[in-house]
Amino acid sequence: MARDYLEKKLGLYIHIPFCMRKCLYCDFYSIPAANEQLKSLYLEALMLHFEEHSLQLAPYVIDSIYFGGGTPSLLTSQQISMLLRKIKKNFFVSPKCEITLETNPGTVDKAKISEFRKSGVNRLSIGCQSFYDSDLQTCGRIHNSADNIKAVDDAVNAGFKNINVDIMYGLPGQSLQNVLGSIERAVKLGATHISLYGLKVEEGTPFYAMQTQKKLELPDEDTESDMYFVSCNLLKNLGFKHYEISNFAKPGFESVHNLKYWNCDEYVGFGPSAHSFFSGKRFYYKNSTSLYIKNFTENYDGQGIVDKCIDVQFGTQMAEYVMLRMRLGEGINCDEFKRRFGRTFESVYLTKMTPFLRSGHIVKTVDGYAFTEQGMYVSNYILSRMIDFDIVIPGV
Ligand code: SF4
Repeated sequence: MARDYLEKKLGLYIHIPFCMRKCLYCDFYSIPAANEQLKSLYLEALMLHFEEHSLQLAPYVIDSIYFGGGTPSLLTSQQISMLLRKIKKNFFVSPKCEITLETNPGTVDKAKISEFRKSGVNRLSIGCQSFYDSDLQTCGRIHNSADNIKAVDDAVNAGFKNINVDIMYGLPGQSLQNVLGSIERAVKLGATHISLYGLKVEEGTPFYAMQTQKKLELPDEDTESDMYFVSCNLLKNLGFKHYEISNFAKPGFESVHNLKYWNCDEYVGFGPSAHSFFSGKRFYYKNSTSLYIKNFTENYDGQGIVDKCIDVQFGTQMAEYVMLRMRLGEGINCDEFKRRFGRTFESVYLTKMTPFLRSGHIVKTVDGYAFTEQGMYVSNYILSRMIDFDIVIPGV
């Protein structure tokens, strides 16, 4: 038990690359829900990958495990149990480890959710997106609002206390009322964490093609910003803390895993398209399930699955830290910055930050500097003016 205090903590991300059908806005890596044989081969490859990392990760205590996708809830609870057993066999997992499973409401029922709970999953992240059928149909989701209500309800009844619900705003044809109604519904059902994402039309998606053909009617800019700010207020009134640009939690329900990304802490990813930040390097695996399977089950060269590996140099480390920490409600802690980088935050960033302090987008806090809510909404623009680096960290 002492290991929790003595050793370094680490998060594990496991990508499950299967989806029933592609949502019209999605550019995450996934392939159509596989036949059972492909799924089994994939799980075998994942478990061989865990074994390969066993020695290297021996000094670490795993305090978060995150099954993301894709659609992890397409796996059975037995398959999740098998993966968790293998993880516990190969790594030291803290007894208090947060274990999250992304869940699509169209792939679960009461029994399956209850079995996930028994398998050791203690946090569900439910991809509801909206509680209005019109929004869900527009996005090409496989579930309707009744499925959403049932999934959150089943999660509560199965004993989950730590429940995230994803809500999207800025969808074509969506009204402000639909966003607020969705948040209220999720919270009333028992969500203790809300991820509120604005739609980004990504190249290569059907939405992108529709936008190019001028067939995508998005809310205008004012309505979209109202959706964000009024939702932030609503969530605050409902007792949620706005702890990251897009994330809100009841006290004590902040995501341990996602905080690792924003705090520049270490995590290791498994599966195609998964990325890692470990030992001063960021590395990314290729978007190919078949290559991933071959790599581990047919003795391919391990380098075959690595897409990019970047040695994060001092200047980039500093810029990444600012970019990620500023996403958090508490922002930059100046003492921590000095400890990490041996110089004061002001000596590096004050000149570039001053216009935003004057405009009220950034404020001085007790420990450092943070975005105001207005600043959070335009954070990408502000950070691009403060930081000289072109940094892309997937999923963050
Ligand atoms: S279910 Fe999730 S990962 Fe799959 S296509 Fe839809 S948004 Fe993308």
